[in-house]
This record gives sequence, C-alpha cells and structure tokens, in this order.
Amino acid sequence: MSDAPASVSKDFIRELIAADVAAQRNEGWVITRFPPEPNGYLHIGHAKSICLNFGLALENAPKSRCHLRFDDTNPVKEEVEYVHSIQEDVKWLGFDWGQNLFYASDYFEKLYGFAVQLIEKGLAYVDDQTLEQVRAHRGSLTQPGTPSPYRDRSVAENKDMFARMRAGEFREGERILRAKIDMASPNMNLRDPVIYRILHAHHHRTGDAWCIYPMYDYAHPLSDALEGITHSLCTLEFEHHRPLYEWLIDNVDGLPGKPYQREFARLNLTYTVMSKRKLLEMVKAGLVNGWDDPRMPTISGIRRRGYTPASVRVFCETIGLTKYPSLTELALLEHCVREDLNKHAQRVYGVLRPLKVVITNYPEGQVEEVELVNNPEDPEAGKRRVPLSRELYIERDDFMEHPVPDFHRLVPGGEVRLKYAFCIICHEVVKDAAGEVVELRCTYDDATRRGVKPVGRPKVKGTIHWVSAAQALDVQVRLYDKLFTEAQPDEAAGEEGSFTQFLNPASLEVVTAKLEPSVASASGGAHYQFERVGYFYTDPKDSRPGAPVFNRTVALKDGFAKGK
Ligand code: ATP
Ligand code: MG
Repeated sequence: MSDAPASVSKDFIRELIAADVAAQRNEGWVITRFPPEPNGYLHIGHAKSICLNFGLALENAPKSRCHLRFDDTNPVKEEVEYVHSIQEDVKWLGFDWGQNLFYASDYFEKLYGFAVQLIEKGLAYVDDQTLEQVRAHRGSLTQPGTPSPYRDRSVAENKDMFARMRAGEFREGERILRAKIDMASPNMNLRDPVIYRILHAHHHRTGDAWCIYPMYDYAHPLSDALEGITHSLCTLEFEHHRPLYEWLIDNVDGLPGKPYQREFARLNLTYTVMSKRKLLEMVKAGLVNGWDDPRMPTISGIRRRGYTPASVRVFCETIGLTKYPSLTELALLEHCVREDLNKHAQRVYGVLRPLKVVITNYPEGQVEEVELVNNPEDPEAGKRRVPLSRELYIERDDFMEHPVPDFHRLVPGGEVRLKYAFCIICHEVVKDAAGEVVELRCTYDDATRRGVKPVGRPKVKGTIHWVSAAQALDVQVRLYDKLFTEAQPDEAAGEEGSFTQFLNPASLEVVTAKLEPSVASASGGAHYQFERVGYFYTDPKDSRPGAPVFNRTVALKDGFAKGK
C-alpha cells in the first residue's frame, strides 16, 4: 500500500498506483513525470498536473521520483525563456525534481534509432504525401482511410529515404515518416500516424543538428520508457492516443521501461482561458501586460498577484481527480487563497477610496497611538502602533448620505465605531461645487474607547477602519478583478467569435490609497491584509524602497461592500 498522507483521499489514479505498488509492479517503484512543452508559460491548469505528479512521488517515497521533462519536439514554437519560467514555476509550487531534469531532445538520436528499427520491422514507412494529403485520406469515423501509394515501399528504400530526410535532402513537407498500423482502425490515431516530419528550424538545444523532428505522440511514450517512467498521467484529450502509446511501447524493442498511460480530467476554471496558445495570443496582442500580468491565470501571474504556493496546492487537492470533464469555480481557488493568507498576512489599515473625516472635538495637533495586533491568527506576529489624530480618512463606501436599508455604517447624524478607537457621530457633510461629498465633520465620544457602548444613544452597529491623515502614505494600489466578463469565455464566443471579446474592461483599476505609515518599510513580495478590505501583495517588480506598490490578491470576502 502507498503511505499517502491521510489528507490525500484516494482517487482512481491513487487507487491504481496503490494496487500496482501492492502487486510489486516495477518492484514497487512509482516514477512519474511532468512533461511540459516549452511553448509558453505554465498556467493554473498545469499546477494540477504538477501537484499530481510530484505529489505522487512524495506520497510514495522512498521508492519514487518525479521527472521534469521538457517535451521540446517542436523547435518552431519553443523558446529558452519558457524553459526557464517553467522551472521557476515548478520550484515555486514547492516541488523538486532533484537530478531528474530531462529534455525529449536529449533522446533525438535514440528516437531516430527506434524509428529505423520500426522501418526494419516493416512497421514504418516514408510517405511522399504532404500532411494535408495524409489528412485528406485518413477517412472518417464511418469510413476507413485510404492507404498511401507509398505504404508498401521496401524496407531498404524506406531506410534510405529516412536517412536522406535526416541528411536534409528534402524540403519541409516533402516527406514524412509514418507508423504502419491500420488504415481501417476505428481509432483514427492508429491510421498510420505521422511520427517524423521535416522542419528546417533551429532548435534551442540541438541547434541545427536535426532537420527532422519526432511528433509528440511518438516522442512522448518512448521518452517515458527511456526514463523508466512507471505511470504516465495526462489529461483526457489523450485518451484516444493511448492505443498508439501502447503500440509504440509494445513494438519498439530494447526499451528499459514499460510505462502505461492513464488520463484524468483537466482543470477548467470559470472566468479563465486555459491554453498557452490563447494566453500567448493575449500577450502578443498587448491585451495584458505580459505573461506575469497579475490578471493572468499563469503561475507567474498568480504569483505576482500574491497567491501562495500552499493555497494552490490545497486547491489542487480540494478539486481532486476525476475521469469526467468539469468546470471549477474561480471562487473556490480564491477561497483557498484567502484561507492561507488569513493565517499569514500582516494586518494593516488602508483606505482605498479615501473620504476625509475631521473630528471637531479632538484637540488640534494631538496624536495618540493605538496598539493593534499584527495578525489575530498568529500570536507570534506581535503588535504595532498606529497614529490617530483629529483628521482621518475612512473608506468612501463606509459612508452613505442617503443610506440604503440595513446600512449600518456612517450616515448623517449617525454613529459608528472606529475600530480599536472610539465612536464618532457625523454632524455635517461638506460638499464641493459639484455636489461631491469631500469631508465629514464629526465628534467623538471619549467614553466609548475599548469597546464601551455609548450611553443614552442608540446601539452602534457598524465598525469601520480608518487612517490618520497627517501620517498616511499615498500608495499605488492595483485593484484586479476577473479577466473576463463571461464565466466561459470560449463557449460564449462560439465558433465565430473570439474569447477576447469578453475581456473585462474593469479588470484593472489603479487607485492611490491612504495607508498607515508602517507600510513605508514594506519591500516587494510581502503579503498584507488591509483590514476589512482584502489581501494585498507588494508587487515584486514595481515596488521601490519606501514606495511599495500593492496588488490586490483577493477581496476579503465575496460581495464586500454590498451594504453590510
Ligand atoms: P496548453 O493547451 O495550455 O498548451 P498543454 O496540455 O498543451 O496545455 P503541455 O505543456 O503539453 O501543455 O502540458 C504539460 C502537462 O500539463 C500535460 O501532461 C498536460 O496534460 C497537463 N495539463 C495541461 N493543461 C492542463 C489542465 N488544464 N489541467 C490539468 N493538467 C493540464
Ligand atoms: Mg501541448
């Protein structure tokens, strides 16, 4: 039995693996891999696969490991930048591949040899048709495919042709190598799939050594076998590729391992597109500010937004593994982020949309200090002192001149508690020429400190936060919201449209907030809770000493400021 931590419930993959371990398949070893193609930055969907594959290795230690393998078989779309970012992202999530960093391109010579072996066995042939012709002759689900006129080339001719393909004698598209399987198979992937194509392209690792490149469906199972992978776990769309995976493992001789493939449902999230191709499209079109724009569902984006690795891991554990496609609520991910940040984030007072309050009966020039706890969830976090004086800022939303029913914060003539200070009563609403409220003139009741209730006046129902005006810091805060207005932008766009038409124009609002002076020392990459407002993260790129820039990670709860 695997000794999975109690918190990891047994899904169908874990049950399968536990059974393999119990049966001493592969002498009880569990060797998994995370195999990204370096053609873009990783997204939150990849996190699911990373947590699964690396998680399985941890759960099955010591006879286990997880490889990071770059499936770098398409030089046209791949870049070193992506290779670096992927490693950074996996590490950030808290996983370690140790010595086990691999590249499919490291196996190009071996993969070539296996192809020659298939040719020699009469199981592969060089086809002079173009990819388009191959596609056109593949048949349909009801019609068998049409065999290529080149299907019965002799072994000798195939070997010669394949060697000439490698030697660069042909132009792109002039020849391909196909596995010879079954043109009438009900599984289209077995109708003589293309396994090599010509690409006169520079590869980020092999340079110009090759001008033929293996197809993913060919390179992937053989790379798994070469590395001794025991369980090759991928997403459902590869289910129909499994017979080809098995055909290759069965028909290539001399493989050190005999992996098998199983599929699980990919993560789909509401208000999110999850495809490197589409994310790249947004980056290229300048619709977002790069791959690590905090609105992006990329690992680098959510990292910069202030999501924590622990929260992403808990999220992946919570959603679990199924065999059926599903859609997960973005709200669940945000919930996991909040739960984690609640435990660790330093509390501060900050006002996003400041409204000035003058406490007319508080002595001019007097400044007192209020002691506040840094994190009620963490006694170790200590306390800090925050100034309080005659002029303050409160959140605009915490005042309503014409209150809606059940609004319990500040209203003309009403009373509210300033958190950890005292109660104030609003006597006068000052407006500018345009009729905009610019200042509230209030009085305070010194007898209401330390939670003491006002005497002879109605019960005070609301408590609000505040910042002392004279000491407040003006700080840039970026308020991020959902990137899309539609829960399923792809579906909403349909065949004709583009998901980009549902980009949320209000996904970024930049405000100058008033923050308590203690944040002046904040450096980039620190988590905060602005009390009653939300969780914020000092932008690691744009924060400067003494001038932090804050990204809103997530609001404090859904529906904040809806009048409670
Ligand atoms: P994309 O379509 O976004 O480019 P991909 O599947 O082409 O994704 P790869 O780099 O090939 O990207 O993926 C590496 C691994 O991550 C694969 O095993 C793949 O199954 C897995 N993966 C990709 N997207 C998801 C997802 N949304 N949920 C779970 N696993 C995923
Ligand atoms: Mg892919």
